[in-house]
Amino acid sequence: MNLGFEGKVAIVTGAGSGIGAAISRQLAEEGAEVVLADINAEAAERVAAEICEKGGKSRHFAIDVTDAAAVEKLVATIGETCGGLHLAVNNAGVDGVRRATGDYPLDNWHKLLDVNLNSVFYCMKYEIGAMLAGGGGAIVNVSSVLGAVALPIACAYTAAKHGVVGLTKAAAIEYARLGIRINAVGPGWIETPLSSEHRDIASSRRMEALQPMGRRGTPQEVAALVCFLLSEQASFITGSYHLVDGAYSAH
Ligand code: ADP
Repeated sequence: MNLGFEGKVAIVTGAGSGIGAAISRQLAEEGAEVVLADINAEAAERVAAEICEKGGKSRHFAIDVTDAAAVEKLVATIGETCGGLHLAVNNAGVDGVRRATGDYPLDNWHKLLDVNLNSVFYCMKYEIGAMLAGGGGAIVNVSSVLGAVALPIACAYTAAKHGVVGLTKAAAIEYARLGIRINAVGPGWIETPLSSEHRDIASSRRMEALQPMGRRGTPQEVAALVCFLLSEQASFITGSYHLVDGAYSAH
């Protein structure tokens, strides 16, 4: 399937690791010029170098996506140096502590909502302006299966990821006639550093037993969906939320 990304400029946040890195690699393989944005500059640089070694076009920027002014500046820089912005994947995220709502620490709540929800608003706010200037574009926000179902002792993550789905739908309606399609994806249990952070072998086995397919998904399986949604193959798909969770939420 030709996804038609030649000549397109894409930004991927949280591109230094896991799902964001896989999306960046696939976008570049399909011909896009990819801007990798991550708070971890070294990680983003590593992925960008790997893409360039394989003949792809990419550059990297260190950015904290919770800083709205920095996001605005980065989007402006992309417009000036790359000649526009056509595709965006808002993916940067962090995991939270595991506590019941009554015991959930306030500072953890604010930090998690900042990175996983507020940043998606900041990114879209400025990406949309740049895309309108170029006549249109496509955005995918990376939510989670926890945008559809809840995980007890993860109230902040569940709330943030549900919020990303709502934000996606509202913005998609607003820009539906202006040439910008906006969708969200909901990865389930995927093999990434973030999903492994809190897990010992016993809890990994418990999680695996809960998976209808008996395995984790791969970052590439998420990237394939994201790239399809960004492409013209998905030209009538906007304002929707697409799970890639191996039937976990179908339970
Ligand atoms: P996932 O399972 O979603 O792929 P990872 O932990 O592998 O999770 O990747 C999340 C990425 O988001 C990391 O590269 C991390 O550095 C990045 N990230 C986290 N917080 C921020 C932030 N505030 N600004 C930019 N990037 C961030």
